Amino acid sequence: MRYKDKVAIVTGGSKGIGAGCVKVFVEEGGATVVFCSRTGQEGTALEAEVNRKGPGRAVFVRADVSRVDDIRHLIDTTVERFGRIDCLINNAGWHPPHRPIDDFSIEDFRSLLDLNLVSYFAACKFALPHLRKVKGNIINMSSLVGSMGQAGAATYVATKGAITALTKALAIDEAGHEVRVNSVSPGNIYTPLWQEAIDAAPDPARCRADGDAAQLLGRMGTIEEAGRLCLYLAAEATFTTGVDHILSGGAELGYGRKSRR
Ligand code: NAP
Repeated sequence: MRYKDKVAIVTGGSKGIGAGCVKVFVEEGGATVVFCSRTGQEGTALEAEVNRKGPGRAVFVRADVSRVDDIRHLIDTTVERFGRIDCLINNAGWHPPHRPIDDFSIEDFRSLLDLNLVSYFAACKFALPHLRKVKGNIINMSSLVGSMGQAGAATYVATKGAITALTKALAIDEAGHEVRVNSVSPGNIYTPLWQEAIDAAPDPARCRADGDAAQLLGRMGTIEEAGRLCLYLAAEATFTTGVDHILSGGAELGYGRKSRR
């Protein structure tokens, strides 16, 4: 019950890491969570599941974060219903299939920037007047590859590097309001997005095994582990701002076979 009487917003909360945040904030934090995604069916199913368990509560709002009006509606609905916002978790995002820069169009890049980056900026902008009133906090879901790069992912990596940078800049500006702004950089967390990559691989079993072996800990992280780090940042890390929190099972440590020659 570490976040009882607090209100959190999670974008992209119907499945994957966002769903892990919804579950942990409701079940372990006792919080009220408003979460969005584009698909109604999965959102309402998760809403019913977590509300059965409690002790907090969840409300699903359909919203496409690549549409700025939908983000504004999500924030306004939360404040109208619950009167406050204590934590904003910007999480909705997408990793396109891997390919060289030659095969990404300018339009591909622009639309990924809208989805992965401009949406975070807009949600921060609309939520901050409310977060300042309660000295709340923002958690931006970035990625380990935003700092270490990734093959065939120039557009995605650019959006994630920018999220980590935006987080630090906002942490500086908002400190005067006692609003903390942090990012989380997952390595490999097993989610429907990861399963999409496994299904698209020429050898799916090998792809899953390689995904597990990329971590020193020999497995991918779980959505609940991601949710628990976010709940810790929101509820307990009261002297932490502008920090990128790596959640990777040690994936970035040590040397590996990296040359393609
Ligand atoms: P996921 O399994 O694909 O889940 C994404 C969630 O976001 C779903 O609820 C999806 O629901 C929603 N969503 C997607 N596009 C949306 C939009 N335009 N508007 C509103 N909601 C939208 O993805 P994930 O693996 O959990 O990834 C979540 C975040 O973590 C992303 O920002 C990703 O870049 C980051 N991340 C993930 C990993 C990993 O290993 N999984 C690693 C590093 C970073 P709908 O499709 O119904 O809208």
